[in-house]
Amino acid sequence: MNKKLFEPPVIKRMHTGMPGKNGTSGIIEPISHIDNNSVSTLISLFGSPLFVLSEKTIRETCRKAVDTFQSRYPKVQFGWSYKTNYLDAVCQVFHQEGSWAEVVSGFEYDKAIRNGVDGREIIFNGPDKSEEDLIKAANNHSYIHIDHFDELYTLIRLAENIEVKPRVAIRINMETGLFPKWDRFGFNYENGEALEAVRKILASGKLDLVGLHTHIGTYVTSTSAYRIAAEKMAAFAMEIQGKFDKRILYLDMGGGFASLNTLKGAYHNAADTTPGFDQYAEAITGPLIRAGFDPDNMPLLILETGRALIDDAGFLVGTVLATKRLADGRKAMILDFGVNLLFTAFWYDHMIHPVREMTGTTEDAVVYGPLCMNIDMIRDQMKLPLFQKDDHVVVSRTGAYNMTQWLQFITLRPNVIMIGMDGKPNLIRKAETLDSLVQNEITPDHLLP
Ligand SMILES: *Cc1c(COP(=O)(O)O)cnc(C)c1O
Repeated sequence: MNKKLFEPPVIKRMHTGMPGKNGTSGIIEPISHIDNNSVSTLISLFGSPLFVLSEKTIRETCRKAVDTFQSRYPKVQFGWSYKTNYLDAVCQVFHQEGSWAEVVSGFEYDKAIRNGVDGREIIFNGPDKSEEDLIKAANNHSYIHIDHFDELYTLIRLAENIEVKPRVAIRINMETGLFPKWDRFGFNYENGEALEAVRKILASGKLDLVGLHTHIGTYVTSTSAYRIAAEKMAAFAMEIQGKFDKRILYLDMGGGFASLNTLKGAYHNAADTTPGFDQYAEAITGPLIRAGFDPDNMPLLILETGRALIDDAGFLVGTVLATKRLADGRKAMILDFGVNLLFTAFWYDHMIHPVREMTGTTEDAVVYGPLCMNIDMIRDQMKLPLFQKDDHVVVSRTGAYNMTQWLQFITLRPNVIMIGMDGKPNLIRKAETLDSLVQNEITPDHLLP
């Protein structure tokens, strides 16, 4: 029998804090299993650190979002935001669930094509599309969302030599009450720039204006911002129809719904402040339904939701390398992953769960990663149970952006697995190796060892 480790008894002052709708949060629940797979077994099979994705959670979240919008509006289409997580396996789950691809670079565009997505189901956003990208997208009948006048003029010029009439929308930025304003992308609504862009597109006769696009921000917890955006988008579509007799086929409301991760410095837990899909859907579909569109010809509503669809499905699993006391007496814990893998630690207060059942004793601690860099801090302060070297930990809600923004820095990137619908783990991205990493390096002859 294993002897239990002795922990001296302590008297603890209780800090109850503000109760949320789920009571007070203080005790961190252990996560011993992910979709019925023991975390410790996964580590012994695939190593530590390790990213784990749940196919079941991705599908359930996606279905919930789609159903919520479809029950309120007749024509709804989701487009998976590739930059949020573009691992092929992840994209394919979304495509199987009926999502189109939403891409913001030539590389992402090619990845969508390689994933078998029909060009007609690719939305091409972003300020950086090369002429080659534009020609390819036009020929594939993809939706090109024009970001600025330079792109507009380029596309009109290129269209002379393209067989098909490029299908385009314009990206629109607007006042929605959010701060800071995202006015660096697209054409401004209030100052008439968006209308000017439409006028130029229609006057050219070279482009087929089919939609309007906006993406008002990210981690937007204000549903009223979406309501205002939807009202303006609908009003603009009606204005275009009235002025130019041009019917807009779709309104793309972008992404930006908040996930359940708590922002750094937030007073309340995100679980108590993040609106549900139903609240976002109500805010967006209400104005569209009331806008006065022909009921038999409502514009298609497109959504490019990213983080809210996948954050919950991702876990970063790792190991405690050491615990120590800082010179000022604070407890510190060093993990085998840092901001290199958990890039979102820069703006979220991530939850770090134990894997095993631990005593109720907690202590304020600072949590570091393994990098030899002062910026490598996962939590500057968190109440943690008394972890020891070699304990395993699980960071929940890491599915969004970490597997695309991760840095190859000091250490190699680890395995990524997805637990399938059958409950079995599938390796979906192999850990990097020294060989895979240096394969693009070229050492001149005179520098060879
Ligand atoms: C990043 C991005 C999204 C997804 O944003 P989330 O905040 O993750 O929902 C959608 N559309 C565009 C144009 C984007 O750049």
